[in-house]
Amino acid sequence: MFGVSMQSINMTEPKSPNRLLTLHCKILAEIVCGDWGGCFAPLARGMGNGKRRGRKTSSQALSPLSSHLSLLSNPFLLRSTGRSNFVAMTNFTIAIHGGAGTILKKSLTEEKEKAYKSALQDALDAGYAILAAGGKALDAVQAAVVSLEDCPLFNAGKGSVFTHDEKHEMDASIMDGSSLNAGAVAGVRNVRNPVLLARAVMEKSEFVLLSGKGAEEFAKSVQLPFETDDYFFSQFRYDQLKEIIGSEKTILDHSEKKFGTVGAVALDGNGNLAAATSTGGMTNKRYGRIGDTPVIGSGTYANNKTCAVSCTGHGEFFLRSVVAYDISCLMEYKGMSLRQACEKVVMEKLVSIGGEGGIVAVDSNGNHALVFNSEGMYRGMRDSSGQNLTAIYR
Ligand code: ASP
Repeated sequence: MFGVSMQSINMTEPKSPNRLLTLHCKILAEIVCGDWGGCFAPLARGMGNGKRRGRKTSSQALSPLSSHLSLLSNPFLLRSTGRSNFVAMTNFTIAIHGGAGTILKKSLTEEKEKAYKSALQDALDAGYAILAAGGKALDAVQAAVVSLEDCPLFNAGKGSVFTHDEKHEMDASIMDGSSLNAGAVAGVRNVRNPVLLARAVMEKSEFVLLSGKGAEEFAKSVQLPFETDDYFFSQFRYDQLKEIIGSEKTILDHSEKKFGTVGAVALDGNGNLAAATSTGGMTNKRYGRIGDTPVIGSGTYANNKTCAVSCTGHGEFFLRSVVAYDISCLMEYKGMSLRQACEKVVMEKLVSIGGEGGIVAVDSNGNHALVFNSEGMYRGMRDSSGQNLTAIYR
C-alpha cells in the first residue's frame, strides 16, 4: 500500500537524484502493483473521485502522486517482468573507451574515423541493450568489452599488440561495485576474450588475479574459447613491433596510427556499478611485463558508494598512481564530485609524474566523466536520458 511504502522510505538518506528517482519509482510500483492498481486509471486521468473505500484521496495525498505519475511517460523507469509485476528502475548509463594517446585528426582518414566510431557505437549499444532490458551493470560492461575485444581496431583480444617475443599476452579485469567482488587475468595467451576469463575468475574461483599458464589452465577448466595465433595476427601490429624491436622501448599503442586498450563502466537500473578493462598491453613488452589493466584499484575499480572507473594509458604511471581507486577515494573521503575527482587525478596528479592517458567513469547518480590528458581518447557514452556520443579527439 502507498502509506506503507512511504513509511519504508528512509527520509534521512541523502536525496541524490538517483535516490529521488528510486523513491518515485517505489511509489509508482506500489500504485501499479499494490492495492492501488485497480484505481490507477482514474488516478492517472484526474487523480480519482475520492470514492474508493478506505483510500486516502484528499488533494493533499494525491498531488504528490500526480508528479510521480508523470514519470510513467519515461519508458525506462518501470520495467514489466510479467503480468502485473513491475520493478522500479532508476536511470542508467554506460561509458566506454578504446584507448587514449596521441590520436591526431590528421592521422586518421575519414573512413577510419567512421570505422572507429561505428565500433564504439556497437560496443555502447551492446551494453546499453542489457541495461535497457533491466540487466546488470556487470553484464553490460562485459558485453561492451567483448564487442571491443572482437574488433581488430583496438588493442585487446583480437587486436592485441605484439610482445618482444612476437606473441600476444593479454591482461583484463572486471569488478562488481555492489559486492566489491573482482576478477582479473594477466599475461594470458590465445584466450579469445580475456574479460570473460576475468569474470570467470571472479565467479568460479576463490582468487582475484590469475596469470599466464595457470590462468589458461583455468580458462580451459571453465570451457572458455581459445584461438590460434593466426586469429590474433595482423600485419599492421607486426609492423608496429618491427619499428621498435631493436630498441629497449615499449610503446603505447595509441601514438599516431596506433590504437588502444578497451574498457567500460556502467550504472544499472538497480543502482549497481561495474567496471571492466582489457588490453594487449604495450608493443615490445618483455619479461612478463604486466600493466595497470588487471590490477584492481589501478586500471579498474567499482564501488556502489562512489563510482566505476576504467583506465587507459601508460600502465606504469597508472600503477604508481593507483588511479581508479584514488578517484573513488577522493569522492568517498573528500566529498568530491565525480568530475572533480577525475580531473584531479588525470589532469593534475598523473600529469605531475608524466603519466599519459585517460579514464572513463560513472557515479552512482549516473553522471559520467570521460577525462584524458593525451591528444585523444576513443570514447563514448549512452544513458537512459537519451544522451549518446562517440568521440576521438580533444
Ligand atoms: N594501460 C595499458 C597498459 O599499460 C595500456 C593501454 O592503456 O593502452 O598495459
